[in-house]
Amino acid sequence: MLPEFDLLRPNTMPEALAMLAEQDPDVLPLAGGTNLIVELRDGHRSPKKLVDVSRLRELHGISREEGHLVVGSGTTIAELLTHPLIAEHGRPLRQAAALLGNPLVRNRATVGGNLANASPAADTAPPLLALGAEAELVSRNGTRRVPLRDFMTGVNQTLIRPDELLASLRWPAPPARSAAGFYKIGLRKADACSVINAAAMVVWDEGRRCREARIAIGAAAPRPVRAPAAETALQGRPLEPGVIEEAAHLAAQATEPIDDIRGTAAYRRRMAEVIVRRLLTQIAEAAGKWEVEI
Ligand SMILES: Cc1cc2nc3c(=O)[nH]c(=O)nc-3n(C[C@H](O)[C@H](O)[C@H](O)COP(=O)(O)OP(=O)(O)OC[C@H]3O[C@@H](n4cnc5c(N)ncnc54)[C@H](O)[C@@H]3O)c2cc1C
Repeated sequence: MLPEFDLLRPNTMPEALAMLAEQDPDVLPLAGGTNLIVELRDGHRSPKKLVDVSRLRELHGISREEGHLVVGSGTTIAELLTHPLIAEHGRPLRQAAALLGNPLVRNRATVGGNLANASPAADTAPPLLALGAEAELVSRNGTRRVPLRDFMTGVNQTLIRPDELLASLRWPAPPARSAAGFYKIGLRKADACSVINAAAMVVWDEGRRCREARIAIGAAAPRPVRAPAAETALQGRPLEPGVIEEAAHLAAQATEPIDDIRGTAAYRRRMAEVIVRRLLTQIAEAAGKWEVEI
């Protein structure tokens, strides 16, 4: 059964921020409710007040601004799936959206809720880390931006202060010579929490050598992680099988997985290597095709 709480429904951002600024630890933002309402029902949380942020127009919309993609935190997962700017400049995020939950969940769940909930297995986190996203946080005291890699600090922990809202996510539009992808392993094909997930993005030069790489892995540490040693190992090198093999191995070393009901730590580490290798192989194929097309 749901515990009792007051549902506050602000129509404007100043109203919402004033409600959160009460500094009452018992006040929580509510977006789609697909995590929060489940937690209330299970008795894991018992806030006295929920601030419904779904009417705040500032949290909605997907746009391109000064070479960056900007996605409002209130954007639903279903909207990510159909928006042309995400198809063009956020391919791994679109792939993750297609595999998150089921159609009912995707219609309500928001990207902001997915990140603010900070599950280690959150499916939108690795793609946004691979894209190099920043999170914009807003409060009555102003706005601040933090790299997404610093935003999630542990299991269900983020840098969001109680008086702040996650307003948007932004990342630089990927250059022409780049490719990116997302991969997820669950216990079944649909409506499954990730046992392991990963995303990668590579930018290459005229000689098809890697100029920049970002690799992110989820469900294998207290928070989704980047794999810096693997990224460095790719720098300046062509995406050949031996190089990919080495990077995938290093990426798996960046994980700190645990045994749980969905899989063992050893399985997760092994699969991290497998899916990063697959992603980099697909990116190498895309790089090859790009060369042929010019
Ligand atoms: C059946 C089912 C299947 C699911 N499958 C998946 C899956 O495959 N992959 C996956 O990653 N997740 C999955 N989820 C989890 C959930 O749907 C997602 O995490 C979803 O994106 C959460 O978004 P929401 O808008 O519903 O968040 P809410 O439940 O409204 O909020 C989640 C948390 O974020 C906070 N919050 C929300 N918005 C803001 C904001 N703007 N600023 C600050 N804090 C905020 C809330 O206070 C709360 O703590 C599933 C859930 C269900 C019920």
